[in-house]
Amino acid sequence: TAKAEGKGRSQIFHGQMDIDYHYRQQLKADLREAVAKDQLTLAFQPLLDISSRRVVSCEALARWTHPQFGTVPPATFIPLAEEMGLISEITSWVIRHAAVECSRWAGEVAVAVNVSARDFRGLDLPVVIEDALREAQLPPGRFEVEVTETAVIEERDLASTALGRLAARGIAIALDDFGTGYSSLSYLNALPFSKLKIDRSFVVEVDGNARALSLLANVARLGRDLDLVVVAEGVETEAQLEAMLEHTGVQQVQGYLFSRPLPSRDIAELIKRFNG
Ligand code: C2E
Ligand code: CA
Ligand code: CA
Ligand code: CA
Repeated sequence: TAKAEGKGRSQIFHGQMDIDYHYRQQLKADLREAVAKDQLTLAFQPLLDISSRRVVSCEALARWTHPQFGTVPPATFIPLAEEMGLISEITSWVIRHAAVECSRWAGEVAVAVNVSARDFRGLDLPVVIEDALREAQLPPGRFEVEVTETAVIEERDLASTALGRLAARGIAIALDDFGTGYSSLSYLNALPFSKLKIDRSFVVEVDGNARALSLLANVARLGRDLDLVVVAEGVETEAQLEAMLEHTGVQQVQGYLFSRPLPSRDIAELIKRFNG
């Protein structure tokens, strides 16, 4: 009967919700365990100077291989960690390990770590970073912090204090995913940024689309006028690179064209190959 069908459908619907709910609960429990057992790893992706093509820094990106589900992307587990109050533990782990790995690379190549809005509440970032640098014997000039517009707006006062102290110690602060968040630009002046990372969405069409190229060129010009180092994220083709080199003030590039995120040992090799 119609009533029975309706009931069946709603059971299927609830069944699906239960799966999603249980999957998330399972992931959360497993994430807590993975963090406790030191099972997260780091991958590093190089940022290159656009004209010399030398590696100037590498971004540390968290990786989790789940025992049953395989690779869980950070876009899934970082928000879970934020919900669970686990993000600060992950961030301080990333900071310590990124500093140690960077100290093993040749030359002056720096390392960049991502910081969440919640870390400004959960961590004394300047202290955590200073301890990690001392432990790894890494100078502050080789460490960078990446923070999104959303994070600095959500935690305006705490972010301002922490970033101010970090910048005063010679640590570069990058504004990440620029152009995807809030449209108010006032905080660009209020906070001590030294780098602007223009989001991948501004890069995809720069070869062949005049309006897209003009948009990227103007965003890059804004950054240059504010004395920021301008980085383009998500560069995948030579055509995109050529368009940026000829028509924009972009100074550094990051993307699959040069390298996917790699384990630290492979990055050490890559640095020798590119900078050697
Ligand atoms: P993000 O900070 O914007 O990092 C760049 C993302 O773009 C990385 O994804 C990277 O693998 C990807 N990517 C790089 N080049 C290309 C390209 O040429 N094409 C395309 N399509 N993608 C490219 P990933 O590693 O999956 O990380 C996703 C996001 O997760 C990061 O975005 C960041 O917001 C977050 N995340 C990763 N690790 C951490 C961490 O340790 N802490 C925090 N708070 N967030 C993290
Ligand atoms: Ca980033
Ligand atoms: Ca980014
Ligand atoms: Ca992004």
